[in-house]
Amino acid sequence: MSDSLHAAANKQFQQAADLIDLNPEYRAILSQPENEVIVNFPVRMDSGELKLFKGYRIQHNNVLGPYKGGLRFHPDVDLDEVKALAAWMTFKCSLVGLPYGGAKGGVTINPREYSDRELERLVRRFTHQLGDTIGPEIDIPAPDVGTNAQMMDWIMDTYANVSGPGGRQQLRGVVTGKSVEVGGSLGREAATGQGVLYALRHWCGETGQRLSGLTVSIQGFGNVGSHFARLAAKEGCLIVAVADHTATLHNPSGIDIPRLFDYARENRMIKGFDGADEVDTDDLFSIAVDAFIPAALENQITKDRADSMSCRVVVEAANGPTTSSGEDVLLSRGVDIIPDVLANAGGVVVSYFEWLQNQSGRAWRVDDVDTRLREIIWDANDKVVAMRAELSCTHRDAAYAVSLRRLADVYDRRGIFP
Ligand code: GLU
Repeated sequence: MSDSLHAAANKQFQQAADLIDLNPEYRAILSQPENEVIVNFPVRMDSGELKLFKGYRIQHNNVLGPYKGGLRFHPDVDLDEVKALAAWMTFKCSLVGLPYGGAKGGVTINPREYSDRELERLVRRFTHQLGDTIGPEIDIPAPDVGTNAQMMDWIMDTYANVSGPGGRQQLRGVVTGKSVEVGGSLGREAATGQGVLYALRHWCGETGQRLSGLTVSIQGFGNVGSHFARLAAKEGCLIVAVADHTATLHNPSGIDIPRLFDYARENRMIKGFDGADEVDTDDLFSIAVDAFIPAALENQITKDRADSMSCRVVVEAANGPTTSSGEDVLLSRGVDIIPDVLANAGGVVVSYFEWLQNQSGRAWRVDDVDTRLREIIWDANDKVVAMRAELSCTHRDAAYAVSLRRLADVYDRRGIFP
């Protein structure tokens, strides 16, 4: 049996809480989610059969603002996983200075096994079942693993249809990551990958090297991995290995990423691409590179895999990709780890921009989105580096310390109700 992900997430936060001597009352509050909503809901399949699904929305903390975080559709979604993911959202939003708390949700389902019509009915019924749990000032979902802009559009439409008249601009902010046509933001789709690249660029600055020419391996070629790859290749990085759930591809002279990007869009997988050699799944980890980018699921960098890895930096594009023992191995070998809450915050930052655009009814230009995203991610990276120097700790501890200090400041001023 695998260890509890929520326990692992708690361990990370407790370690940083020790370092900054966090008030034990705040520590107790933050170690559990505030609300755990579990719904079981029926959906009619195309065959006429009725199937029951289990969905979650875990609201971890809202002291900084409305709950915020993605919805994951994956066969492994369970309460423990969503609790961990929700806590990470609180720390991520706090770290990058957003006026949001943290939440996460999901449905235990493999979306690839269902037709578009079935998924639409499922998303609408799940949204309806969540009822007042979500709302533009309450809790704002977004895409995550297995969900996309089309699903966010259905959530918004369902929510709008059962809301009273009025507030037609603002209520679109019930969910972010929507299609641009229905109130999404330019730049949102690529935002997480873009933020990962900014974090890598910042690390290059700290360590005195050039981004251009870095060799990179990427685990995962979904929304985050594929956009990161596209943007990194444009900056001159050499992407030598890419893996998804169908194949691991290796080309020591660099994979033609624009071509792989189009191939993956068309085939919904990277298997069969002719511009690289297919190697074994675990070979991905032992290929020597400058930067390793886990952009898939949690618990991928285990102790054994870490033992075989040869890289200088791991930039955690996924949430929770490194196990605690994997992390120990990497740190003991001098590998830097740019933690998830910092590395992948670009998505939720542009979600915030989308929500602001929905509030005001005014769309931003894509260069405004990119400039402001870069400023926020850069500033957060600067703060983490300064905190790391102050506390002589790891990047992860420093990121948590910045995040926890902001949360503690707000609790100090607001107090604990009643
Ligand atoms: N699912 C993304 C994350 O883990 C984005 C969340 C959001 O935009 O609210 O950060």
